[in-house]
Amino acid sequence: MSGSEPAAWLPAARGRATPAIGPALQELTDWVFFSPESGRIWFDKQRALLIHASTFGMLRREILQALGTDRGRALIERVGYAHGKRDAELVRARWPVEQRPPRWSAGPRLHMLEGFVNVTPLRYELGPRGLEAEYLWADSVEADEHVAAFGQSREPVCWMLCAYAAGYAETTHGLCVEVEEVECRAAGHDHCRVIARPASRTGPARAPRRATEQGLMTRPAARDVTAIVGASAPLMAARRMLEQVAATDASVLLRGESGVGKELFATNLHRLSRRREKPFLAVNCAAIPEELVEAELFGVERGAFTGATASRAGRFERANGGTLFLDEIGLMSMTAQAKLLRVLQEQEIERVGGSRGIRIDVRVVAATNVDLWDEVQARRFRRDLFFRLNVFPIDLPPLRARRDDIPLLIERFLALYAELHGKPIRGLSKAALDALLDYDYPGNVRELQNLIERGVICAEQDGRIDKAHIFRHGELLARPGFFLATNGRLRASGAEAPSTPAPLPSLPELERQACAAAFEASHGNVSNAARQLGITRATLEYRLRKWGLRKPRRAPTAQVE
Ligand SMILES: [Zn+2]
Repeated sequence: MSGSEPAAWLPAARGRATPAIGPALQELTDWVFFSPESGRIWFDKQRALLIHASTFGMLRREILQALGTDRGRALIERVGYAHGKRDAELVRARWPVEQRPPRWSAGPRLHMLEGFVNVTPLRYELGPRGLEAEYLWADSVEADEHVAAFGQSREPVCWMLCAYAAGYAETTHGLCVEVEEVECRAAGHDHCRVIARPASRTGPARAPRRATEQGLMTRPAARDVTAIVGASAPLMAARRMLEQVAATDASVLLRGESGVGKELFATNLHRLSRRREKPFLAVNCAAIPEELVEAELFGVERGAFTGATASRAGRFERANGGTLFLDEIGLMSMTAQAKLLRVLQEQEIERVGGSRGIRIDVRVVAATNVDLWDEVQARRFRRDLFFRLNVFPIDLPPLRARRDDIPLLIERFLALYAELHGKPIRGLSKAALDALLDYDYPGNVRELQNLIERGVICAEQDGRIDKAHIFRHGELLARPGFFLATNGRLRASGAEAPSTPAPLPSLPELERQACAAAFEASHGNVSNAARQLGITRATLEYRLRKWGLRKPRRAPTAQVE
């Protein structure tokens, strides 16, 4: 069943010029990870999609019809360019020590793996004048879909594919490369033929593509520890609410599990507000002993109680003009709640043991990881204070609800801790990355941060962080995922379970299940089922009879395929 397909897939096996070194197909497929339980496919650290070629064709057609050929083509090229650039970044991150030709040869392989086109390299030279290369493209999905949508074209139409090649080549070589399609199947040629050369003879699409490409690739600055990292939809929604309320003086209540980054949000709220030049103070209400909360928040007058030998300003006074962040507000005592309420109502505090009111102008941002309304119902939290604080609630998503941000956060923390501990790290091993992508993070971003710091500390200098460096206390739970095998079919991931290994069916059992499923799906048509499984009709017939899934026939071999 497995046959010799893998070798035939390798462009280098047929190419005359490109050496068959560098990341081979199997190394590249190892980075495709199917995680159906979380509704995701990962391509290295990027979420990927499996969509029908016809859906891609429809999208392309609608773009061209809506925007017209010129603008539509420019958009398609920008998307293709960004795609090639991302793939090149992936290869560069995974195979950093590789020389240029092997890395370059991974581009066509990725393009094939992703299902866009079948590439045969014809020529590849990287000389003093720059890059010169020539490729033959068979079965371009873009050519096929263009013909399906618009009929045969007079000009080459594999715009997205060419832009991909340009994005990949430019990112890999750091040179300006022009990719021109000189023959195209959509224009009636047998193949598409593509030439890459130094971009001195620049095409017209170059300038706008570069300008907009900047916009596509913006990322938060890696060094800014106070930036909120992530681009997932739930995070963007929370961030948008934060931006909306920042300019006002409204009380904000941040709700979310422990470790989701409530203080980070509060800091950002402060930075976006007109109070940004004034102090930002954070208080964890759970960390202060109950009898000291009032003194801590509102200050003490000398002699107020034994040990109060000097007057002292509380956090409210010290945060004057700025923002006070009250974390774990649900754990504040009823007495402190009453005082806090009065401060919020009157904009005035009174120190413990003091008799005069002190005017203050402080914006309060509160945070809770318990449901405050439940606390109100249970009479542990004042109802009036709840309504004071809950003017503008923002829910911060747990990390498992924003899994798409995990790779960005990993990158951020790696850079942060490598610098902090003065220890260059080459990244993560594949097993470590898979485990991190699949983990549930009960402790949220803070837990991920701790795991990465642990990894940086445990890994070798200039080495990669391995799974064993990160998960050392049984945090990891086995969840089923799937990789692409060389025969193109999915194989279950070898996710080790720390205590109870998930029972995997044996290979013969898997085979039996596959045959039975195909047989059933083809409503008992053995020829169809065999075609689906990629085996001969006679083989399937034999197996079905062996397993008793099909009654013996008198002359099975007499039937014509
Ligand atoms: Zn073409």
